[in-house]
Amino acid sequence: MDIEEFRKAGYQAIDRICDYYASFQDRPVVSQVQPGYLVDALPSDPPEDAEDFNEIADDFQKLILPGITNWQHPNFFAYFPTAGSFEGILGDLYASSVSNPGFNWLSSPACTELEQVVMDWCAKLLGLGDHFLNKNGVGGGVIQTTASEAAIVVCAAARARYVREHPDAKLEDLVIYTTTQTHSLGVKAGLVLGLAVRALEVTPEDEFSLRGETLRLALAEDLAQGKRPFITIGTVGTTSSGAVDNLEEIGEVLKERPSIWLHVDAAWAGVAMACPEYRAFGKLEPINRYATSYGTNFHKWGLVNFDASMLWVRNRRDLTDALDVTPEFLRTKQHDSGLVIDYRNWHLGLGRRFRSLKVWFVLRRYGVEGFRTHIREGIALNEYLVSLIRASPSFELVTTPSLALSVFRLVLPASPALASGEDALTAHNELNRAFHRRVEGASDKIFLTQTVLNGTFCIRFAVGAQRTRREHIDQAWEVIRSNASTVTEEWVKSRISV
Ligand SMILES: *Cc1c(COP(=O)(O)O)cnc(C)c1O
Repeated sequence: MDIEEFRKAGYQAIDRICDYYASFQDRPVVSQVQPGYLVDALPSDPPEDAEDFNEIADDFQKLILPGITNWQHPNFFAYFPTAGSFEGILGDLYASSVSNPGFNWLSSPACTELEQVVMDWCAKLLGLGDHFLNKNGVGGGVIQTTASEAAIVVCAAARARYVREHPDAKLEDLVIYTTTQTHSLGVKAGLVLGLAVRALEVTPEDEFSLRGETLRLALAEDLAQGKRPFITIGTVGTTSSGAVDNLEEIGEVLKERPSIWLHVDAAWAGVAMACPEYRAFGKLEPINRYATSYGTNFHKWGLVNFDASMLWVRNRRDLTDALDVTPEFLRTKQHDSGLVIDYRNWHLGLGRRFRSLKVWFVLRRYGVEGFRTHIREGIALNEYLVSLIRASPSFELVTTPSLALSVFRLVLPASPALASGEDALTAHNELNRAFHRRVEGASDKIFLTQTVLNGTFCIRFAVGAQRTRREHIDQAWEVIRSNASTVTEEWVKSRISV
């Protein structure tokens, strides 16, 4: 493709992207294709001869788009929505135009220095303490691909630090602490690093928040058995229910054990701390006081197109001591002089995408106030949904709503009475599973995902896509309400006939 061809194809691409964004009302939220649809449609070998670009671009519309679940659709309420933005798309486009692997400062000074700057901007946006800033030269921030990869990075760093301080420690005795509500990133880090993981119990009475006492007892038990817990992963905003661990208590317990790293995973909820009124909820104060590292995904609620997972550490040397490998061909005089960051030593790979550009575009174009408005709108829309749930006799909230996430279920109808010996929870779960299956059947209109909390099957409703407005909550509620009444009627009927 020459420059003029690219110019034409590029204009066409932007036109088509605009049409795509303008047409969500005509598109299903969840892709409606069957497994194998694309594999069957495509040739099994690459083309022998060059193809015309128009045909390739047309095939994107014809073959790829139907297989896309539209995460940017305003009726997407599953998992945690990923609020992309046009600013983010443009950032990625420009980044792609200077495609480079950015592994050290010299390989593209702008990539490194922009990342240093935007990570400090993001830290300040969220109210993080100065000790997390790149500018201070001790701590610092780095963009990882995902929160899961960030967890592997910090577990590797925590392990290296622990083993340095305890040369007698055997790797098989090391333990990663999580809770039963921690995202699978804890188990995955254990798998990858070959380390044990212990999930500490949290209870519905504590709203699934890890308490200091639970941690203290687990530590006493494990240490008595010669185990070596070396990192605790706390969460602000768990995936299931938006629960927040009691970081004040956890921090107090860990204060007596400085060799145990405290990582706080706020992959979804962390960006809400951009708004001063949510900083107490987001545990900003204990994070600043106690956390060894802190992470949040700007690619979820934070308006930056996937991927951009922000990780801050109190001491950058913890990362580089664990991950710095510098063969002769990667040495540069700037690195040797200690004047620059070589981000390859702050993450798992060598090369890295130029992710800071889209973050820079988004933060400049929205400004701090615009970013806050987006967060506040998501929370207000969830509050609106909560008001609908509370006003309906057919539904109940299972946990206290958390920022832009609600967890609810259908109420068990009073009649028919349960069969003798039948337990209420099983019957209730059965009803709600049937409800969720029905809502799945309406996945062209809305997308919701389920979870199980302490044995209770429930539905999650997560607001956060960039285009969601009140009318979309109303549409979603209509789908929820009508399917709920059908399911409840069917459920009652089937039991009477039994
Ligand atoms: C989404 C989420 C993750 C995982 O995010 P990735 O970036 O996809 O790894 C981890 N923790 C929490 C609390 C999450 O919500």
